[in-house]
Amino acid sequence: MSLIVQKFGGSSVADAESIKRVAKRIVETRKAGNEVVVAVSAMGDTTDELLDLAHEVAPIPAPREMDMLLSAGERISMALLAMAIESLGHDARSFTGSQAGMITDARHGAARIVDVTPVRLREALDEGAIVIVAGFQGFNRDTKDITTLGRGGSDTTAVALAAALDADVCEIYTDVDGIFSADPRLVPNAQKIDRITSEEMLELAANGAKVLYIRAVEYARRHGVTLHVRSSFNNNEGTIVYNPTESETAVEEPLIAGVATDLSEAKITVVGVPDIPGKAAQIFTIVAKTGANIDMIVQNVSAASTGLTDISFTLPKSEGQLVLTALRAEQEDSGFKALQYDDQIGKLALVGAGMRTNAGVSAKLFTALYEAGINIEMISTSEIRISVVTRADTINDALRVVHTAFGLDADTEAVVHAGTGR
Ligand code: ASP
Ligand code: MG
Repeated sequence: MSLIVQKFGGSSVADAESIKRVAKRIVETRKAGNEVVVAVSAMGDTTDELLDLAHEVAPIPAPREMDMLLSAGERISMALLAMAIESLGHDARSFTGSQAGMITDARHGAARIVDVTPVRLREALDEGAIVIVAGFQGFNRDTKDITTLGRGGSDTTAVALAAALDADVCEIYTDVDGIFSADPRLVPNAQKIDRITSEEMLELAANGAKVLYIRAVEYARRHGVTLHVRSSFNNNEGTIVYNPTESETAVEEPLIAGVATDLSEAKITVVGVPDIPGKAAQIFTIVAKTGANIDMIVQNVSAASTGLTDISFTLPKSEGQLVLTALRAEQEDSGFKALQYDDQIGKLALVGAGMRTNAGVSAKLFTALYEAGINIEMISTSEIRISVVTRADTINDALRVVHTAFGLDADTEAVVHAGTGR
């Protein structure tokens, strides 16, 4: 008997009809002779609505209470889903994160899973039940409080359950047919990818692809969990996200897996930094203390006459003001001249394991952008990725021309079944 973990996102369980449809699908998997564990998200936009409500009653809601509130979203969907399955004549039992043994650290709103003890789930499975687990939530042993894993955390719940229960596969059901060479909402003729390495998927997720959350991919990579990302609206094969063995790595990989874009970042330029040892260290120590997650960094050559240089870096817009304030406070000590803040940037990342062994990828990327009249402001690379920053309002054009230039366009249009891509 195989054990299959299935995750259904908010748009797949948005209303009663959808819940019944998902229940049927789960029952089919059970009838095919599998043990089934389901991780479910809150219905539709419930989490956002709860967040809005919280901010209506309190300017800065207490993190503990925020987690109590948000975790309620998944309790609603898990119970409704279990009821729907019961009414199809199958035994189903729902469990909260803490009942399921999702043990996390104590960080409210951004908790990390530290242990999974699915004793009750195993018992329920042994009794023949279908198990439904509330995604996105856990429990801290020290504070004895409910935690949440951060937005999109149900993916991580599913992967952690798959690892702990040694599942054969972890199926992530979503509102598109799998992982595409670009977001099909932005590039209608994006191609569905059949197989992608977890390494490539990590780069895409880290650079704006929203179909899977980066922490879930990281967890799957670390614990050797194979993911199958597929649509909850049909039975088509989706995309397998796998951890290649040594011999598979040697096999010829496609040059490019996909292109991702991200409009959530801003750029800070530290102008007139004395070009002497220790200045970059000083500036980035100030930035690090804020906890901000910086991404690209570019330092210009200094003009010999002034001995000053400029350093630019990108970071999430949400952390921009915090970092600016921290830098301003230390301006005198660090000796830079000024700060510039630019939140009208877009980032494009081209990802593919085949880049390791192929020359000319950068040239082709930059040429495609040049021919479309798009100016590049920053560039950074990893072994399997090239990223560029452009003006925000050119990023969708950039995405389309790059997608075409690398031969990724499909003949048909991708189907987007529902949801907002979140
Ligand atoms: N309901 C949570 C959210 O919207 C978790 C999830 O959907 O994965 O962020
Ligand atoms: Mg959601």
